[in-house]
Amino acid sequence: MPDLTNTTWIYDVIYQLVFQVTTAITAPLRSTSDIYWVYLVSALIIGIFVALRHKEMDNGESSGFWNHFQSKYLSKNTWGHPSALLDMRYYVVNAVVFPLLFAPLALQSQTVVNFLNTWYSSFFEGASTHFFATSSVEEIVFKVIYTLLFFVAYDGGRFIAHSLLHDVEWLWEFHKIHHSAEVLTPFTAFRVHPIDLMVMGIFPAFTTGVVTWLFHVFVSQEIGFYTLLNLHVFICLFNFIDNIRHWNVWVTYPAPVNKWFISPAHHQLHHSADQAHWGCNRGFELAIWDRLYKTILTPSNTEQKIEFGLGDENPLNWRSLGQLYLNPFKNLANSVLQKQRISKR
Ligand SMILES: [Zn+2]
Ligand SMILES: [Zn+2]
Repeated sequence: MPDLTNTTWIYDVIYQLVFQVTTAITAPLRSTSDIYWVYLVSALIIGIFVALRHKEMDNGESSGFWNHFQSKYLSKNTWGHPSALLDMRYYVVNAVVFPLLFAPLALQSQTVVNFLNTWYSSFFEGASTHFFATSSVEEIVFKVIYTLLFFVAYDGGRFIAHSLLHDVEWLWEFHKIHHSAEVLTPFTAFRVHPIDLMVMGIFPAFTTGVVTWLFHVFVSQEIGFYTLLNLHVFICLFNFIDNIRHWNVWVTYPAPVNKWFISPAHHQLHHSADQAHWGCNRGFELAIWDRLYKTILTPSNTEQKIEFGLGDENPLNWRSLGQLYLNPFKNLANSVLQKQRISKR
């Protein structure tokens, strides 16, 4: 029986709450965060460039540049919209809920590596590993290959997870939370149900775990990837532009680059309420997965006016924290009850 007279657990809970909220609020100061201030500033600079180009093309407008920038990209209609304000509240609350209740259950890449190591050594005990003698030149070559393959595995794993979230009926109920956003700001990236986050974690953990294990077996246990600002170098580089995915700044790449990489505008089309766009552009950085899966929809170079949201549901059903957390369970229970009723007829 736990000793209920012992109240130290209350202090532990309070400490954890304060710690997680502080971690969430100070995220812009940490280089491993998606909203590290450097990445926010780079998004702002890109936004200003886009606005300058837009202004150049829009000769009829007489107001100053800042007025134009503010009214189009920092407007109250977007940043003060109930959906955007809910994203900010959800960001803080989920920063407590997810690490405390769900993160301990999440699959880690290292767990996959450890499992495969145990499996391999039980079959090939004493077998010679590290087939490639590593001279310093080979070390660099393998480090480059590992850096590339790790990224491809990570991005591919995320695509598989995101695709399942769209195609599997009960998983879609959880992913709907992200798509219920009516306006996009960088905080929308965090409007993700804990179950969605778990699914989004499992697949890249598995794919990167397999790649890492293969390199451990065949190359070296010490292999690592190149890093920048404490992150995988490519993940860091994409972070400089990724906050624009959830912001109404229309950024596409030149046609040949657009074929290989998912631009922020690709992801904005992914959020479109228009049925013709549903389920398109599920990738994160590489466009190859969507091209193979035939879900690619290339955005036009000129800005497309997009209405964001689910399209087939009342947005008022997605306006509170309770609705974001509980709607999936409510909807799933309703659909089970409905199916039971139909089968009894
Ligand atoms: Zn999104
Ligand atoms: Zn999606």
